[in-house]
Amino acid sequence: MTTGIEVRHIGKDYAGKPAVAEVSFTVADRELFVIVGESGCGKSTLLRLIAGLETPDCGEILLHGARVAGQGTMVPPEQRGTGFVFQSYALWPHMTVRDNVAFPLEACGMSRKQAARSVEAHLETVSMKELAARKPEALSGGQRQRVALARCLAGGARTILMDEPLANLDPHLRGTMERELLHFHRSSGATTLYITHDQREAMALADRMAVMKGGRFLQVGTPQEIYERPGSVEVAAFIGHGSVVEVYYRDGMADLSGCRFAATAVSGQPEGPARALVRPEGIEILDAGAEGQLAGTVRSVLYRGGIWEAVLDLDAGASLTVAHDAPMRVGDRLAIRIKRAWVLPG
Ligand code: ADP
Ligand code: MG
Repeated sequence: MTTGIEVRHIGKDYAGKPAVAEVSFTVADRELFVIVGESGCGKSTLLRLIAGLETPDCGEILLHGARVAGQGTMVPPEQRGTGFVFQSYALWPHMTVRDNVAFPLEACGMSRKQAARSVEAHLETVSMKELAARKPEALSGGQRQRVALARCLAGGARTILMDEPLANLDPHLRGTMERELLHFHRSSGATTLYITHDQREAMALADRMAVMKGGRFLQVGTPQEIYERPGSVEVAAFIGHGSVVEVYYRDGMADLSGCRFAATAVSGQPEGPARALVRPEGIEILDAGAEGQLAGTVRSVLYRGGIWEAVLDLDAGASLTVAHDAPMRVGDRLAIRIKRAWVLPG
């Protein structure tokens, strides 16, 4: 496995406060790596350090094996072979789609004819050939974002850095663009680092992802690993709609107020009090009148299109988020069975 991006103990302070605190990670060549975290956690600063728009206080950065920052080196952004896609599209408003994409090619000395051929290929990749003669003002948000992607490709970027590129789009278009981004990523062959505050988007796109908080990475893994086996309460709380409950763990089983259910844990998890993550899909809602393991009263309900999601206050004391494909109402009494849970390590 060759390495696309290698970040070693990188740090950046603003006014004495760390925005990025000793972060280390590697992204494989051609991998799509997503960093997710709430606003202000240091995502953009980290991306700007990799792009060369900021100088790190400590640590080093290598892109495809070459040091670009650290140990006295500071390669300027335009020599790093990176393309940058921001939340706002930053197209030249007076140029057509075609000229926007051709610009980086002609700027580095390619002939007009050669550039034109190359541009057609890149516009094809992002399905924008038909709109090549338009100006940015006559394009939708999603179309503008596609032009920005094509321009990245035309610039020959082996590394593409994306800072919340879909944040300004409406939810429907975002779904379409997620599919397009995956297609774009595969056909570009570029190493891609993508940041977002949206955990759903992160899971949909990532080969691997990192959860960031307070300038640090809390956990790195595939979306499935992070969803199914979060390493801490903080990660469990940030990803998905699960509930964390106090249990007693022993030999693959958790005990919640005398009710026992299967629980997965890291190997070597000792017997004793622990915290378990229970996700809605790990909870079965039993038919009315059935004898459940646990019973409770519905505190609040959200309708999520075909699925009702409720917070259930258990008679035993804890609260669980449950999902059901039939209506639930505030005050309803429910009997449930917990099918599986994940014991949070530590
Ligand atoms: P995110 O992209 O995750 O929302 P940022 O990387 O933009 O977070 O910001 C991380 C922290 O660093 C925030 O507390 C922010 O206020 C601070 N910060 C970012 N850029 C600057 C700057 N140029 N000057 C001072 N503080 C900054
Ligand atoms: Mg940001």
